[in-house]
Amino acid sequence: MRLRNVTGSREAIAESGYVVHEEGLKQCPGTWNRIFGNENPIHIEIGMGKGKFIHAMAKEHPGINYVGIEKYSSVLIRAVQKMEKEELPNLKFIRMEAEEITEVFGPGEVQRIYLNFSDPWPKDRHAKRRLPSRQFLARYEKILAKDGRIEFKTDNRELFDFALEELEPAGWEAVEVTYDLHADARLMEGNVMTEYEEKFSAMGNPICKYIIVKREDKAEDTSKG
Ligand code: SAH
Repeated sequence: MRLRNVTGSREAIAESGYVVHEEGLKQCPGTWNRIFGNENPIHIEIGMGKGKFIHAMAKEHPGINYVGIEKYSSVLIRAVQKMEKEELPNLKFIRMEAEEITEVFGPGEVQRIYLNFSDPWPKDRHAKRRLPSRQFLARYEKILAKDGRIEFKTDNRELFDFALEELEPAGWEAVEVTYDLHADARLMEGNVMTEYEEKFSAMGNPICKYIIVKREDKAEDTSKG
């Protein structure tokens, strides 16, 4: 994502009612249904960029609550501006670093996590910063419902292969894998293109996608204490 400083974006975000702000975040775990005012499932996108995907998803699925997470104000401001043009009651944003995700959502509170075109962090020593790394999978496991899932799309084959290799050691399994999403009619059903997906598929890059769930035999038993 291009890091242009958008003048006043920090201030505009601080004033926006679409963004759950830092002061409020500590109270969030376990209260998202109250924030949205209903009992609908919660789906989140981590690293949402300018919010094209999550805004379209929220519009198409009014019975699901969406939370978009982005670390840069200068990018998040674009998602806020989209909401100003077309307000949706089932979409909220947080400006934060994904590493802190377990401080914002309670155990099992999230039904689905979307990772779209996550930063590749190509150097080996930065592997743990990649959003589909085992370190992040362990964080996601804490906030995902037992029957929850993660959907990941990227055109970066190295990052995708890495993400697949992380599944076994982290105790997850893929229920869907494709190396060319746009050629797969079944997986394309209901597909909403992200900003990056539009850009990279227009350049001819195939889009990889997986859907993963926690392996039954590895799922932590949270029913007791
Ligand atoms: N999902 C969008 C944007 C992809 S670019 C799309 O598919 O079009 C990746 C985005 O993730 C960038 O906006 C970047 O700022 C954000 N991001 C990367 N690492 C992050 C992290 N650790 N926490 C929060 N956001 C992150």
